[in-house]
Amino acid sequence: MMCQGWRLGSLVVYSCLTLLLSACGKGHSGWDSFPIPIYVDASMMNNAATRADLEDGMSFWEQRTGKKLFDVRGAWNGANQPFSGDVSNPDSIFENIVYMPPSWPFAPGYVGMTVLKPFDSGQMAMVMINPNTAFCNGDCAFDYNRTSLRKTFAHEFGHFLGLQHVADPSNIMYATSRPGGTLNTLNVDDHALQSVTSGAH
Ligand SMILES: [Zn+2]
Repeated sequence: MMCQGWRLGSLVVYSCLTLLLSACGKGHSGWDSFPIPIYVDASMMNNAATRADLEDGMSFWEQRTGKKLFDVRGAWNGANQPFSGDVSNPDSIFENIVYMPPSWPFAPGYVGMTVLKPFDSGQMAMVMINPNTAFCNGDCAFDYNRTSLRKTFAHEFGHFLGLQHVADPSNIMYATSRPGGTLNTLNVDDHALQSVTSGAH
């Protein structure tokens, strides 16, 4: 599902796009076991505020499922990019990773992108964050000109787990990022969450 950013007076609203490649029906899809090992781009891992938002985005889902879903293994220190092929549609992903591509290959209004890449006996996922987006950290209270990085992470980790967009604006999987970074007022689809975190794929 794709969506676009737009401007309402001084209020800039961004959105994200997701490629759910596993939906194409080829190979494996879904996570078999938890927690899922995941690496983080060194530039994000080494920034304390970014790291805090990342952990909040992960714990958003872990609190709701009551189990540890993500196992951060550390910074991605590979000399090369963590995938092969085109970043917008990689041939393979070497490790599950949160990655900030040096240049953003998608429309500028998209703040995040998650790619799930199935293979014969499993899948790999890559969360990409737009390096050109003006992000704010934490609660982002009254910060109407920037986008919450914390909420962007939470949303993209929803895709990472296998969730798709919903029409309810109060749901974290709503396609457009709304102002503010508060997570505890956002809803989730418990049934869908249960289905993607049961490990029964
Ligand atoms: Zn999305």
